[in-house]
Amino acid sequence: MSELQIDRIGLKVGLEIHQQLATDKKLFCSCMPTESEEYPIKFSRKLRVAKSELGEYDPTAIFERSKDKTIMYYANPASSCLVEQDEEPPHEVNRKAKEIVLLIASSLKSAIFSEIHVMRKLVIDGSNTSGFQRTMLVAQGGYLDVDGVKIGVQSIGLEEDAARLLSDAVEIREYSLDRLGIPLVEIALEPVSGKPTDIKKIALTIGRLLRATKKVERGLGSIRQDVNVSIQDGSIVEVKGVQKLDQLEKVIEYEAKRQHGLMIIADRLKKIEIERIAKERDVRDVTEIFKNCKSKIIQKALKEGSVVKAIRIRNFAGMFGFEPYEGIRLGKQLGELVRFFGLGGIFHSDELPNYGIDNYEIQEIKKILELKQNDGFLILAGDLQKIDAVVESIIKRIEDAKTGVPAETRAATSTGETIFLRPRPGAARMYPETDIPPLTVTKDELVDAQKKAPKSWKETISDLQKTYQLNAQLAEQIFDSNYFDLFEMICQDKRISPNYAASVLCGIITNLERRGLDAGLLRPTEILNAFQFLADNKVAKESLEMIFEKIMSGDVRSVVDAIEKAAISKMDIRELDNLLTDIVEANLKIIQEDGLRSIDPLMGIAMKTMRGKVDGQIINKILMEKIREKLNSKN
Ligand SMILES: [Zn+2]
Repeated sequence: MSELQIDRIGLKVGLEIHQQLATDKKLFCSCMPTESEEYPIKFSRKLRVAKSELGEYDPTAIFERSKDKTIMYYANPASSCLVEQDEEPPHEVNRKAKEIVLLIASSLKSAIFSEIHVMRKLVIDGSNTSGFQRTMLVAQGGYLDVDGVKIGVQSIGLEEDAARLLSDAVEIREYSLDRLGIPLVEIALEPVSGKPTDIKKIALTIGRLLRATKKVERGLGSIRQDVNVSIQDGSIVEVKGVQKLDQLEKVIEYEAKRQHGLMIIADRLKKIEIERIAKERDVRDVTEIFKNCKSKIIQKALKEGSVVKAIRIRNFAGMFGFEPYEGIRLGKQLGELVRFFGLGGIFHSDELPNYGIDNYEIQEIKKILELKQNDGFLILAGDLQKIDAVVESIIKRIEDAKTGVPAETRAATSTGETIFLRPRPGAARMYPETDIPPLTVTKDELVDAQKKAPKSWKETISDLQKTYQLNAQLAEQIFDSNYFDLFEMICQDKRISPNYAASVLCGIITNLERRGLDAGLLRPTEILNAFQFLADNKVAKESLEMIFEKIMSGDVRSVVDAIEKAAISKMDIRELDNLLTDIVEANLKIIQEDGLRSIDPLMGIAMKTMRGKVDGQIINKILMEKIREKLNSKN
């Protein structure tokens, strides 16, 4: 295995930013864009293959259909209506959303169209009840200034957000309709060459420009990046769902490594003679051989009535397990592919015998497939109706391996890797929306958009520093964070110091996240509540971290519950005084021996019972006074 030289592989990255706009209504109806917690309405649909009006079947549609799923939708009338359920045509386009997208296009110097047409973009993963997403091309061209370098803008669109995925299992996929229809601006940037850190800087800059408008949503999931990654001589791979900048950098690094690894594998494949796999000749049903197999995956599949198939690939020995870079193997790519069809996994000749598959089964397979020394084989188990489609996909994937990187859509994982999602969509994906007439953009609207162009990021930060008396670093942190709107709300209460609020929002919560806790569980209203309690003197400053920790670990849902559960309440000052007197009296010996230094062990004792109830500084102050008193009275 060698080290990847990322600057020598012709890496190109194009960013596509999706940012929710801050409107009080959705794009095509009057529903509130809020997250629901309860869903009184629930209904299901089967995935269907939609035939686009251009008359071609979309390959992704066929692919999704072959997975054969039921989609469950959960709805709350507060956040969705009949439009989201696809039981009623869309209403007029939200004016506010149009205004914001024109403003963004204008600040990117993009050429705005005088007429905007609503189009339907085919989606077949069930993320839209109608089977398509409504989208509008608003502007073309322009550029983003990244420290003096102009990054070209390809296009700017306005579209509806998809339904929120709740769960995804083999047979059933669940969505909430609360997010469906929230207006999104989609900004596609020109692909650029550069290192992952350069791309991260571009993403940061566009994020800052959007936030400077103060008309976009904040919070986890409100901005998402799709990343198109390619290397020299390779196809473009689309990676969906990058939510954080650090993750973006890792995803690009991983894709560069994966794609270059696949190129190295292809080079090796070109040197050996591999004939095309023919289904009739090279694929055999081997279910009988595996009747008594010890593999748990295969036994489970057999119990469910599955069949087992073996595929022969001539001269392929060693190619599934060949690992040009750590973790990059053809075997792993095939594993991702079959798992996406809902199969437990795939076994290849380079890793056997193993996983409960013994020499007996291998010898039988060698006989049936008439294997020679250098031949490779694959074994997979699956539903009779599904397995042919899976086998075909595998054969295609092995063919694609000879040219290197197949064009596909992948999903970003939270750890910064990518996994196979589906083949790249074909061209036949857009057709006109007939329910909504085209929108015109007037001269006045254009002038208005130019006038309202947001301040530059530098100006915004310097304003923030002045308004809230923050240092530059904290001002930048809070402005770049998910919590800026909350910060401004919290600071309306003059009893709370902006400096303290910013450091809690950027420090404590981020630290808890780094420890693996889920910031998604900490709802904005609960953060506001916590600060309200603090301002009312009902909890101590020190308790905030514990309260957030309890909520972010899923222990409790609200601040009130956290306080109750941990008995975090402000202690009566007299009660506190009595408790500290008791501690001092019980530890006179330590005080006599250590003098003022006895504060450390005594603080430790006091904090054991009072952590979270009382501010540590207060305890320290009172304890110090009491120790001084004792020492003075002795002298
Ligand atoms: Zn609605």
